[in-house]
Amino acid sequence: TVTNTTRDTQVFDLIAKEQHRQESGIELIASENFVSPAVMEAAGSVLTNKYAEGLPGKRYYGGCEVVDQVEQIAIDRAKELFGATWVNVQPHSGANANTAVFLACLQPGDTILGFNLSHGGHLTHGSPVNISGKYFRPTFYGVEQETGVINYDIVEETAKRERPKVLICGASAYSRDWDYARLRAIADEVGALLLADVSHPAGLIAKGLLNDPLAHAHIVTTTTHKTLRGTRGGIIMMRNDFENPYGIKTPKGETRLMSSLLDSGVFPGTQGGPLEHIIAAKAVAFGEALSEDFYDYAIQVKANAQAMATAFVNLGYKIISGGTDNHLMLIDLRSKGLTGKLAENTLIKADITINKNMVPFDDKSPMVTSGMRVGTAAMTTRGLKESDMEQIVVYIDKVLMNHDNESVLSTVKEEINEWMKAFPLYKS
Ligand code: PLP
Repeated sequence: TVTNTTRDTQVFDLIAKEQHRQESGIELIASENFVSPAVMEAAGSVLTNKYAEGLPGKRYYGGCEVVDQVEQIAIDRAKELFGATWVNVQPHSGANANTAVFLACLQPGDTILGFNLSHGGHLTHGSPVNISGKYFRPTFYGVEQETGVINYDIVEETAKRERPKVLICGASAYSRDWDYARLRAIADEVGALLLADVSHPAGLIAKGLLNDPLAHAHIVTTTTHKTLRGTRGGIIMMRNDFENPYGIKTPKGETRLMSSLLDSGVFPGTQGGPLEHIIAAKAVAFGEALSEDFYDYAIQVKANAQAMATAFVNLGYKIISGGTDNHLMLIDLRSKGLTGKLAENTLIKADITINKNMVPFDDKSPMVTSGMRVGTAAMTTRGLKESDMEQIVVYIDKVLMNHDNESVLSTVKEEINEWMKAFPLYKS
């Protein structure tokens, strides 16, 4: 029998400790959120026991009748949520989704053009330490120093100069919406495929609160755990499938569809068996995201981000690009004489979790940085509203302005722990 006789207290005590940490503090990491108990239940289900290499109806293992249905529900719900006609829900993470796309679309040494990591881009869009930067030739566009905003004329100039095979948009720390139509025009001009990685704002996009990437990008990837509020994972989507532009044929001599190359890019290209328990959790999360309640949630995430940005500006903080269209903002702490590292390390003492972040044209190293990134997706899930965002900013300012005063830090921590009791997260 597999019934537990003794509990592994070493691990489960730590899980309880982590739950307490999450419940008693203020979570502002822009890439994090709190999943529902239903999502967590699916993620911890018996589906973890099942091998299911292949796709629904076309598996390399027996006994897949049930997981086939689960995976098909995840696919169908993702299609409905984003207006896609093709989805692969198997990538274990956002990084895996992007790597599978690159494997499907590129040969080693091909050029890619992405958003500069030090301006808010992601490691998987061409960083030299990631496979995307090691196996391909990465080139970059960034934001303008004066405005903190992407200048699409410069993206176009760069694309014409570098001639990428794949033009990538999407970011980890960019608070403005993207002009996908313009990017597609640029991609078409240079014969590139446009990949939109919408990992951060996916939940807002799903509810129509930001521009629609699927209307323009050939391929869209996203993580499922940020504003989308699902389990950790990734998916790849297309609104319209198309014949691959590389002339790759099927054994019957027909040109393979892009969807077929992307499916192969995931499995067997970069992954083995899919995590059907996680796919079940994705299905549950997509079901939640399809609801009217999630629309209210997404509206509140944006409203909270606006309120937070205004509160920071009112206290003299500099937000890159001057504000936010989505759930996050990047704050340049140089005007306050602080580094990102100091901010992160001090705020955690008051149970406020943020991450240090490079700002565009940063003069500090990635381990120090001049900025901090904050987002509202997680605290909105807990039920906090605009006035609470103002209170959070007051606390942040108090902590940062008193970073060497331990008694102020511990008083703020106590107040926050008490405050958070009013916003219960999970039943213990
Ligand atoms: N793409 C973007 C834009 C991201 O922000 C992230 C994660 O922060 C990823 C990809 C990678 O996702 P994961 O951590 O699930 O691999």
